[in-house]
Amino acid sequence: MSAQKKNSGFATRAIHAGQDFDPTTGAVIPPIHQSSTFVQTHIGGLRNGYEYGRGTNPTRNALEVQLAALEGGKHGLSFSSGLAAEDALLRGILLPGDHIVLGNDAYGGTYRLIDRIFGAWGVTHSIVDMSNLRSVQSAITEKTKVLWVETPSNPLMKITDIAELSEIGHAAGLTVVVDNTFASPALQNPLALGADVVVHSTTKYLGGHSDVIGGALVLDDDEMHEKVRFMQFAAGAVSAPMDAFLTSRGIKTLDVRMQRHSENAAAIAAYFAEHSAIETVFYPGLESHPGYTLAASQMSRFGGMLSLGFAGGEKMARRFAESTQLFQLAESLGGIESLVNYPAEMTHASVAGTELAVPANVVRLSVGLENVDDLLADVDRAIGKAAKKR
Ligand SMILES: *Cc1c(COP(=O)(O)O)cnc(C)c1O
Repeated sequence: MSAQKKNSGFATRAIHAGQDFDPTTGAVIPPIHQSSTFVQTHIGGLRNGYEYGRGTNPTRNALEVQLAALEGGKHGLSFSSGLAAEDALLRGILLPGDHIVLGNDAYGGTYRLIDRIFGAWGVTHSIVDMSNLRSVQSAITEKTKVLWVETPSNPLMKITDIAELSEIGHAAGLTVVVDNTFASPALQNPLALGADVVVHSTTKYLGGHSDVIGGALVLDDDEMHEKVRFMQFAAGAVSAPMDAFLTSRGIKTLDVRMQRHSENAAAIAAYFAEHSAIETVFYPGLESHPGYTLAASQMSRFGGMLSLGFAGGEKMARRFAESTQLFQLAESLGGIESLVNYPAEMTHASVAGTELAVPANVVRLSVGLENVDDLLADVDRAIGKAAKKR
């Protein structure tokens, strides 16, 4: 990427970084290099470093350059899933005996990975309320190496002060990791706020079309990059060329998508904020949300995710989740289409009975890019239907 592109605006970087035209044919879109291996000119004579697809692949490299540019970081790494990215990062920088401090409403799969896989490997963890800086401080021990932050969090949309937590983490010599999946780099850039590593499930907003599973890491430190790059190569959870292509393709429209996701979600949040069936609307763009001021300072918009706490409890929440039509009942988020999810039994089933358990009256919405009037009509009809059944 030319120096000029590096300094250009977000949408320009999303479209052009790493996505140079093919010099052989002039094809505007870089080709999908669906090849497992690369011919050598003589023994050890690699062309531009390409040898074997687990190590490097041009389509994946193009995505990795693009990812780094989105977050304003030095190094981007692409993986076969968000959890594969998290696993490679943690195994790359931790050893048995080390300790992680993790937020109390982190993504369920992140908790499961840290608790069950890393727990068995001898890495311990403490769970804290990340918005309470004193409790974060008191959870840090001599063995702590990583502070794991997710903001906005999933599914309760808690907002954590990235700059302040980075300061606390760095004072204790820790690596500060931010899972930026919910905001996406179009709305929030944790590295610029002081974090060391950004994690993404590119399955969500970056891919954006619910057609690919993938994960990413972006970081600045060369030494850490070498360790994690080695883990990517040696353990092998790389993204396939076709998946890398689909993710790059999705990223090119990220900026406009996040604008519309945010506008649509704000309209839905405003509708529910006035509704008597709803006890709490968890959306950081509402002034009533405890994280509103902080979100307004570290995010450029409030994003497309929101959760609802139903006054009528679990029954009402379940009925609503099964009554929408345009909002389809499915796990995942961040795609063009609207989805409804009942976290306690769907996305967050793995944390049932733990400190991370999601209240039974909560429903999560991933607000898509459909016409907002159609979305409002759908939730209005569904909430009426759910109330009538009572
Ligand atoms: C989905 C998700 C992950 C895990 O990513 P996969 O691509 O499903 O492996 C991690 N963090 C958050 C916030 C997510 O939403």
